[in-house]
Amino acid sequence: MLVIGLTGGIGSGKSTVANLFAEKSITVIDTDQLARDVTLPGQAALHKIVEKFGEGILLPDKTLNRAQLRKIIFADPHKRRWLEKLLHPLIRTEMQQLIAATKSPYCIVVIPLLLETEPNPLIKRILVVDALEEQQIWRAKMRDNLSEGEIKAIIYTQVTREQRLAAADDIIYNNGTLEELALQVEKLHQLYQAFN
Ligand code: ATP
Repeated sequence: MLVIGLTGGIGSGKSTVANLFAEKSITVIDTDQLARDVTLPGQAALHKIVEKFGEGILLPDKTLNRAQLRKIIFADPHKRRWLEKLLHPLIRTEMQQLIAATKSPYCIVVIPLLLETEPNPLIKRILVVDALEEQQIWRAKMRDNLSEGEIKAIIYTQVTREQRLAAADDIIYNNGTLEELALQVEKLHQLYQAFN
């Protein structure tokens, strides 16, 4: 099974690209979604997060306050590493199961921090969605209601554009229209199918 790791900076267009592959009936595995799944109420991971950060990390409905957790781990690399050590093995296990169940000729795994974390041997090719920083800021601003400063702070915790492009097997440039994006996805779809 050809497993493509799809990555890119905040607001680069990863989800938009992933949706275009999904429209072609390609299995898309979203690791952000898996991270949410493994921290649902009743999951052991949520219990451990509450043990470490206290009940204050829960919303009134007892689900995880992700915004609060994000703030804590951005401010403290030790806490960030602790959380990664807890969640990454769980996410990988889920991911392996979904890959094993894939019926499409290849699959796309969306991993925002693919290049910031340990390499995963299951990933056979790296697809980078590239966008200019001003585009990233504008898109993330529109969508998440974050300030320019907050978005820049996130960008600076991520690898640079140059590092990302250097690691890429394939690149999608997302500085233009959605039509231009769809054309690039179609080309890669042809390429990935030809690998089988
Ligand atoms: P994040 O890492 O922050 O989750 P992302 O890389 O998944 O972001 P998307 O959610 O795909 O990025 O895109 C960010 C926003 O920009 C979305 O609202 C999306 O609809 C919009 N967008 C992405 N690409 C384009 C484009 N080429 N033209 C217009 N809007 C776009």
